Amino acid sequence: MELLTFSISEVSKMLAEKKITSQELTESIFERIKKVEPKISAFVTLLKKSALKQAKDSDQRRSDGKILSKLDGIPIALKDLLCTKGVETTASSNILKGFVPPYNATVVNLLEQAGAVIVGKTNLDAFAHGSSTENSDFKTTKNPWDTSRVPGGSSGGSAAAVAADECLGAIGTDTGGSIRQPASLCSVVGLKPTYGRVSRYGVIAMASSLDVVGPIAKTTEDAALILEIIAGHDKLDATTLNVPVPKYSENLDKDIKGLKIGIPKEYFATGMDEDVEKVIRDTIEKMKKMGAEIYEISLPHSDYALATYYILQPAEVSSNLSRYDGIKYGFSTLRDNKNQALEDVYFKSRGEGFGAEAKRRIMLGTYVLSAGYYDAYYRKALKLRTLVKNDFERVFDKSANGVDVIVTPVSPTPAFKIGEKSDDPVKMYLSDIYTVPINPAGVPAISTPVGFVSRDGKKLPVGLQIIGPVLGEQIILNVSHQLEQNLSIKDKPEL
Ligand code: GLN
Repeated sequence: MELLTFSISEVSKMLAEKKITSQELTESIFERIKKVEPKISAFVTLLKKSALKQAKDSDQRRSDGKILSKLDGIPIALKDLLCTKGVETTASSNILKGFVPPYNATVVNLLEQAGAVIVGKTNLDAFAHGSSTENSDFKTTKNPWDTSRVPGGSSGGSAAAVAADECLGAIGTDTGGSIRQPASLCSVVGLKPTYGRVSRYGVIAMASSLDVVGPIAKTTEDAALILEIIAGHDKLDATTLNVPVPKYSENLDKDIKGLKIGIPKEYFATGMDEDVEKVIRDTIEKMKKMGAEIYEISLPHSDYALATYYILQPAEVSSNLSRYDGIKYGFSTLRDNKNQALEDVYFKSRGEGFGAEAKRRIMLGTYVLSAGYYDAYYRKALKLRTLVKNDFERVFDKSANGVDVIVTPVSPTPAFKIGEKSDDPVKMYLSDIYTVPINPAGVPAISTPVGFVSRDGKKLPVGLQIIGPVLGEQIILNVSHQLEQNLSIKDKPEL
């Protein structure tokens, strides 16, 4: 279906020129979903009826000359970690099965106020714990480029849905790489904003000091369009920054001549796939030809970032997941048997409702926070977090001749086979080695498609991570857009 391969900005023009209607567009999205979803499994909930109604309303607004934004009438998918009023929200976990939120996440309200059509809720690793969607309690999403491989995670459903043209854009969340890594593995654009740039009100919390919400899209311009709708201060989320939101999508045309790019030597360590490394190095060469200045830099605490993350993150997870006790939300053993002692309800509901990975993180987190180990693990990790953050501040410091952006790989390998790492949590955790340090530092980063490697006769995508200083979304979007124009990658997965 030709129409669906177009980007949001292209389709939005077609809508404006009355070449298509939102209803036609939305109908073809659901035809596409019907065709490819059995192979991809990107969605946990489809919202055809309400989507068609939203599309109809959008067409009406358009004929009344009252469109709300460039996203008006555009089909968008939401990671099922975002609360949707009246629509089941599960975090892909059994413990939230049947939970229907009484309110929308702020991001959902903002998208609806912009006229977006909500296609459905996408699959994830339960509670966003993972890098492959294999930790979903419901199903594993498949990579559209090779369905025997993972799409990445935890926002794997959102990335796969965009890559497979099942929606025009999607929302993901990123605590340690969950937007960027699946974007990289599926050849779509994924942006993790600055901590606090986008409201998390109504987003099921993973690790609250690291979580951010961001766009996944086919092009950088589309990611910019979505970001400018969802970003901004929210009185319902005290961590949001009260800083004006630029029109990101209108400032992407600056060339990269004279741009200072830092390449951290710690990010080209052993363990990286040789073919992936070649694609990344070739891209850096290309950026040099485009006029950028390349500098080797050092982020000396990078080696500790993964360990720091895997202490702080489970500590916060264990606290955030304590509210799911079989009383208030979703699944409860009380349903089958009313005569249970309160403690049994807690134990049994949590025991049956949480999957293995959530339990692992609850135990790790409880351990590092427990009285005897708090200083040895948690407090030490907090100190290291500051050092990791300082590394980034130092290299971006303009008064000390700092760089404009940092460029690294997103993932050390291309998409791996389903089942390849699921029995070995540490191996799985290592796939986040290049994305995890960014979250404790709080800075923004984007994953941009830059090429492919070949495995078993199939093309597997490779993404480049472009990191900016705090609130530097505009510059990383600009660099990503320039690179995208230069590389002009048109490949699509065959489905
Ligand atoms: N893969 C990482 C983890 O499992 C990051 C997840 C995320 O960003 N939500 O913790």
